[in-house]
Amino acid sequence: MLQQPVNKTELGELGEFGLIKQLTKDFSLKNKSSVLGVGDDAAILNYDNADVLISTDMLLEGVHFDLTYTPLKHLGYKAAVVNFSDIYAMNGKPEQITVGLACSNRFPVEALEQLYEGIGLACVNYGVDLVGGDTTSSKAGLIVSITVTGSVEKGKAVTRNGASKGDLLVVSGDLGGAYMGLQLLEREKSVFMEAPGTQPDLEGYDYILERQLKPEARGDIIELLKEKEIQPTSMIDISDGLGSEIFHLCEQSLVGCKLYEEKIPIDPTTYNLAREFGIDPTVCALSGGEDYELLFSISQADYDKIKGSMLVTVIGHFTDPAEGKLLIDKSGGVHDLKAQGWKSF
Ligand code: ADP
Ligand code: MG
Repeated sequence: MLQQPVNKTELGELGEFGLIKQLTKDFSLKNKSSVLGVGDDAAILNYDNADVLISTDMLLEGVHFDLTYTPLKHLGYKAAVVNFSDIYAMNGKPEQITVGLACSNRFPVEALEQLYEGIGLACVNYGVDLVGGDTTSSKAGLIVSITVTGSVEKGKAVTRNGASKGDLLVVSGDLGGAYMGLQLLEREKSVFMEAPGTQPDLEGYDYILERQLKPEARGDIIELLKEKEIQPTSMIDISDGLGSEIFHLCEQSLVGCKLYEEKIPIDPTTYNLAREFGIDPTVCALSGGEDYELLFSISQADYDKIKGSMLVTVIGHFTDPAEGKLLIDKSGGVHDLKAQGWKSF
């Protein structure tokens, strides 16, 4: 399905050092905290008085992505952005990344350049510096492992364990889109496998395809919270699905919750395609994952500050742990929330 790069320079032609130089030549340092970048044994960072955040995410071909429908540029962009999302989920600002790359020599240099174009675009869009990495060969597909560092004002980091009974549960954006994007791509892939040469039918689905292939991290929400002077009591980003992330907040904060199905924000494109596929849209939101929205809690006193915002939705509240973790469906029925493998009712 995908276009291969026209020029094919074998990795061996450049050698490891030549390759690193080629891939990183267009990156320059933007952040004050990036003192020394690519080229030495280690990068130097200086965060003055801020608290430093660090996180790693690894993507494996065949496990996390399928190159038959994932353009390498998108893959690079997504690999970087999912890392930025983890820093935002701590109420921080991502500032540097290092990129660990393992690839087989079936990739020409131009393919890796596309991957780095995506990484570079994400770095520009989010104001992050590439300061290092590692490059090695792989016998089992492509592996991209990115480590991100970021800063947060001292004492302002938001963890998963600070929610209290009565706090409101809030989510940014809408959910389930990335999952439906994946279902659509998988369907078109199997059509293509059975009848090579057919063109995929993806028209009208830009939104959910972008949610899957080129997600964005919600730095704008972190800015909104700062501007409104809201310090969330707990926060997590939605990588595995709303259900499982709520579980994490409840378990770590030692609270129960009530989640209202009718409040869960779902885009019409997601909703309609889910119906077409015979999937409950609520299940997409609860178990789909990869939406990279932020899920956080605020004290009730802060409700007026976000009331009416188009960026976030209150979807429930935390309760006494003895009340359990509950989903209230659209007709008022009460269900136990499951961490994974949410079963339709
Ligand atoms: P070492 O042998 O000390 O690990 P390398 O040759 O692996 O050194 O790396 C040399 C420099 O290039 C280092 O600054 C390293 O961080 C950087 N680097 C290596 N691979 C990558 C990559 N894939 N992307 C960005 N920087 C890289
Ligand atoms: Mg190295």
